[in-house]
Amino acid sequence: MSEARPHSDRYWDARETWPREKLAAHQLERLKAQLTYVHANSRFYRQRHKHLGWNPGDLNTLDDLRALPVTRKANYVDAVNDAPPWGTQLAAPLDSVVRVHFSSGTTAKPAPDCWTQKDLDRWSDLYARMAYSQGVRKSDVFQCLFSLSWFVGGLGGMGSYTKIGALCIPAGSVDSERQVRTIFDYGTTAVCATPSFAVHLIEVARGMGLDLRDSKVARIALGGEPGASIPATRGLIERGWNAKAYDAYGSLEFQPIAWECAEKAGSHLAEDFALAEILDPATEQPVPDGTPGVLVLTHLDKEACPLVRWWTGDVVVRDPSPCACGRTHARLAGGVRGRSDDMLIVRGVNVFPSAVEEVVRATPGTTGEYLIVLDKDVSDHAGFLTGIKLRVERAPDAPSNLTVRLTDALRAALQVRAVVEVVEPGVLPRTTHKAKRILREI
Ligand SMILES: [Zn+2]
Repeated sequence: MSEARPHSDRYWDARETWPREKLAAHQLERLKAQLTYVHANSRFYRQRHKHLGWNPGDLNTLDDLRALPVTRKANYVDAVNDAPPWGTQLAAPLDSVVRVHFSSGTTAKPAPDCWTQKDLDRWSDLYARMAYSQGVRKSDVFQCLFSLSWFVGGLGGMGSYTKIGALCIPAGSVDSERQVRTIFDYGTTAVCATPSFAVHLIEVARGMGLDLRDSKVARIALGGEPGASIPATRGLIERGWNAKAYDAYGSLEFQPIAWECAEKAGSHLAEDFALAEILDPATEQPVPDGTPGVLVLTHLDKEACPLVRWWTGDVVVRDPSPCACGRTHARLAGGVRGRSDDMLIVRGVNVFPSAVEEVVRATPGTTGEYLIVLDKDVSDHAGFLTGIKLRVERAPDAPSNLTVRLTDALRAALQVRAVVEVVEPGVLPRTTHKAKRILREI
């Protein structure tokens, strides 16, 4: 971290253009050091290794990592519950932890994700690399439209654009009219936002008699939702702002993961920070480049809450071909293609079909059969979900107010708007294996 930033007019960090052989050697060296550290300092991982009879010295190649099991969200939650509130996964002494962010989600209590100062410095340096690769420079006026409360992206955006030397406005994602006025009054040139908020502000500006196409905003980093990898949504935002929109991909637990450079030709993985595997969701074996699979990540450089073989659940396609920008880090073609577990995002709230099922089956008066319907009644014109529609079968003895009961129960459990259609018993299709619970009509 002692090298000067930026490295050149084009690249923030010399590592971005390392030859693949040099990058692979760096990954192996870091992986050995990281797993040795994790083994010595995290009770969660040490117990896993002990159970397998595995020692860090057993790792001689990158492929040897596959001797270890993948880590899923449920494992992380278990580790937290084993030693609340911080958990057995924590690998740094608590007095060296300087920040905690929390995972969102409706199926489990928010889980803590801790950061040391070194973790924060590394994070903001990588985020700065992202913004710099998209053309942001110190002459920019940056307005951070990511939420600054309970959301990891806001502080990440502020730290990184500050590092570049841009003039930064910690605006957050509230008070939409003031956001628009600030964009015009202070000559904002770059923003980061969720795709849904970027779309929302186009409409807010119109309502104020303004047009964001007349602003100076030239660059939008989009994150927190998959919108930037959906061509129709990206187009809507780029036209509405007359600006270039770039996908920025990360998760609470693994931050950052990948982002688009100015070429907008797939997101570059941060390969000197995150070792990526693309696995078949059923067999957990690697798939060839060009084939969709689940992205599984291992931190190469993380102190407080390092992840080993983290199952992101995101379906991606790896593209190892050289990018016109000159960077050598592999790209995710088309960004994130979807979630392997069908998680839905409703106005920024994660909704799992399993949580819907729980409500249906806990509410007396249904047969337990249901279908989640995604159509125009629960989405906006850009295709973002604004609620959940549930088609559910009534039981023969159902109470007359079943619709109201279910609507209220869904809203209480999921914190999203719910539209309930009650149908007669036996109407919904039955399957004996992996029922199709989601009907997409958008
Ligand atoms: Zn590139």
